[in-house]
Amino acid sequence: MPVSEFSLIYRYFSALGRGAAVDLSVGDDCAILHLDAGERLATSVDTMVEGVHFPADSFPEDIGFRAVSVAASDLAAMGARPLGMTLALTLPAADELWLQTFSQGLAEAVSEYRLPLVGGDTTRGPLTITVQVLGALPSGEALLRGGATVGDVVYVSGYLGDAAGGLAVLTGQWQPTPDHAEYLLHRFNRPRARLALGRELLGKASAAIDISDGLLADAGHIAAASGVKLVIEPELLPLSPALASHASAGQVRRWALAGGDDYELCFCLPATAQAPPGCTRIGEVVAGEGVDCGPGLDIAPGYQHF
Ligand code: ADP
Ligand code: MG
Repeated sequence: MPVSEFSLIYRYFSALGRGAAVDLSVGDDCAILHLDAGERLATSVDTMVEGVHFPADSFPEDIGFRAVSVAASDLAAMGARPLGMTLALTLPAADELWLQTFSQGLAEAVSEYRLPLVGGDTTRGPLTITVQVLGALPSGEALLRGGATVGDVVYVSGYLGDAAGGLAVLTGQWQPTPDHAEYLLHRFNRPRARLALGRELLGKASAAIDISDGLLADAGHIAAASGVKLVIEPELLPLSPALASHASAGQVRRWALAGGDDYELCFCLPATAQAPPGCTRIGEVVAGEGVDCGPGLDIAPGYQHF
């Protein structure tokens, strides 16, 4: 990429790099972040490809915010404290208006999550956004998928299925009332990483995962990693008024069980523990394997790329 294009990008991204853990940000060969004494580093990376993870005509602001949320959601699911992130950006062209609005969405996420942008890489090619997140965990603590035990209660945060409903609105398959449409589109375009909840669950939850591929698929990961069965009662799933306004209760249930992109947390607590506000009990952990959500549900598994 020519120097002028790089300096453009540098202009939009180098101002987002300040944070409590950042010793050195954008501009050198590496960024330097520090951990507090007794902490461990948690890291994860997620890629979003235009046309696969978001529609080609999405607003650049939403693309930027969403890319950070998707990556930060993995820190939430581990209970980690956000330290910073890096951004590998592949762009078809150095379009200044696009970069400006994209970086506005990034800036909103940087500020909301306190997740400074400390470095990255910029290349030319089909629009692809990769965000690596870095977080801190107290030594010996982490929210893992593998700790659920028989007798635990299964919870989710927020509402389920909204992003899938939003995608249906976006693709013209569903036309709810304008206010419901606006809410659902927002839930798809602007998912929130549940970072505060994750940190609150640290040391309390026996297992946790963020719901990126749909509740059934992701609860299945907890079941497999923990060597248990999760029994989920579909009638307990938390539904937003907007999603529930769909004429088909069956469609709503399919979205809530199998729709991805909500980025809420699914977690297990011992039966004696109290769930944080905003979380809903949806089932329990029993002996066995897999996820059981009752008979008569014809639902495809979560999205898989290959
Ligand atoms: P190098 O050749 O050492 O990999 P680069 O030329 O790729 O360095 O990048 C120069 C500086 O700009 C580095 O500090 C890098 O982290 C930062 N940078 C490049 N692209 C981005 C981006 N999209 N977002 C944030 N920082 C970036
Ligand atoms: Mg580089």
